[in-house]
Amino acid sequence: IFSTLPETPLDEPFAVNGAYKQDCNAQKVNLGIGVYRTSEGAAWPLRVVEETEKQIYETGDVNRHEYLAIQGDQEFLTLASGLVFGFGEDKDSEPSMTEQQRQRVVSIQTVSGTGANRLGAELLARNVRPGCVWIPDPTWANHYTIWDLAGVPKKGYPYYDATYKTFDFEGTFRTLSTSAKANDVVILHACAHNPTGADPTQEQWKMLAQLCKEKGIIPFFDLAYQGFASGDAKKDAWAIRYFFQELHEVEFCVAQSFSKNFGLYGQRVGALHVALSSTATNDTASKLHANLCHLVRGEYSMAPRGGAEIVKTVLGNEHLRNKWQEDLTTMSQRIQLMRNALFNELIKLGTPGDWKHVINQASCFIGMFTYIGLTENQVHAMTERHHIYLLKSGRISISGLNEKNVRYVAMAIDDVIRT
Ligand code: PMP
Repeated sequence: IFSTLPETPLDEPFAVNGAYKQDCNAQKVNLGIGVYRTSEGAAWPLRVVEETEKQIYETGDVNRHEYLAIQGDQEFLTLASGLVFGFGEDKDSEPSMTEQQRQRVVSIQTVSGTGANRLGAELLARNVRPGCVWIPDPTWANHYTIWDLAGVPKKGYPYYDATYKTFDFEGTFRTLSTSAKANDVVILHACAHNPTGADPTQEQWKMLAQLCKEKGIIPFFDLAYQGFASGDAKKDAWAIRYFFQELHEVEFCVAQSFSKNFGLYGQRVGALHVALSSTATNDTASKLHANLCHLVRGEYSMAPRGGAEIVKTVLGNEHLRNKWQEDLTTMSQRIQLMRNALFNELIKLGTPGDWKHVINQASCFIGMFTYIGLTENQVHAMTERHHIYLLKSGRISISGLNEKNVRYVAMAIDDVIRT
């Protein structure tokens, strides 16, 4: 019965990672997969996570392996939505105002960021039936799979200007303003765009927000790098908070992941938040919540418990939260350092090309990834000749660089460009 199954492509980052693991060359470098690595090239459980895990275990709570509710852990969700929208951060604001704002957001725990994207896509596909979803070109490849599975037609908007190596604001704005229709969905990377590393400026976000409002486009924020990108969770959530606070009538989704910012990749911790308009009734909010629970129950009953317990404990405790901040700073600073090191090596080598896009230009190039600007043939040569693994688009994960290999990588880039 399965003999006629269609061929399906392997997911590229995981395929590249597999090829890297099989390579026996001592100089091999993995710039493929988007995970944090130390300057020794090793995985790094966050210090705060290790401390918290121990603490949770030592409490000996006999309930720690029990089922969660279908919507997940409520305390985790309150803290997770607070991190996204900033609820309760402003100590001077009226508690009743904060409560009113909280009521506008319906949250549900998910199987990490992927699960949140998937659940949101399913919710919209079934209930709103969007004419299409506008996906940035390029994007995290899984967006295509997720929206394919949801059965929503996909269209691309030109996200990246390869000539100037920047976010293509004009192309994005023109495409959406001329072609998007009411109730179409637009995928927006909230910060640290994967794969290019190029983000809109605040002024550009404001114009995109206005456009969504005028045209009735439904924004769908993918938030996979909050705090990991700039080291400042508030700064990385700026666009979402702007949409929420300034556009009271625009309803939108946020797919939140704790994979990168807590280093909890395999634990699958995340949440889907749906921001309702300020005029939405409590009845709408509870129906939405019930619909989300229904989808989750039929798929996997509830998201996993262990990782969410860690995130909840950290976010709910000032001392641990400060330690988390220290860990975020460690990770984001190392990545920034490596961006600068690669840039400096390429400049020293006189490698043909303009490499400014590798470093943090006007804070619009941030996060783990950069489009280095190599052709597919050059990428192939990087792997064949130099055992350096990256995506064929030329996306590199900066976190695979360290003091020992950055010169080697720069020399390889220089070689494939010149020959
Ligand atoms: N969105 C984007 C843009 C990502 O880069 C990632 C991680 N690669 C995710 C979502 C989801 O990751 P996870 O499912 O591990 O949370």
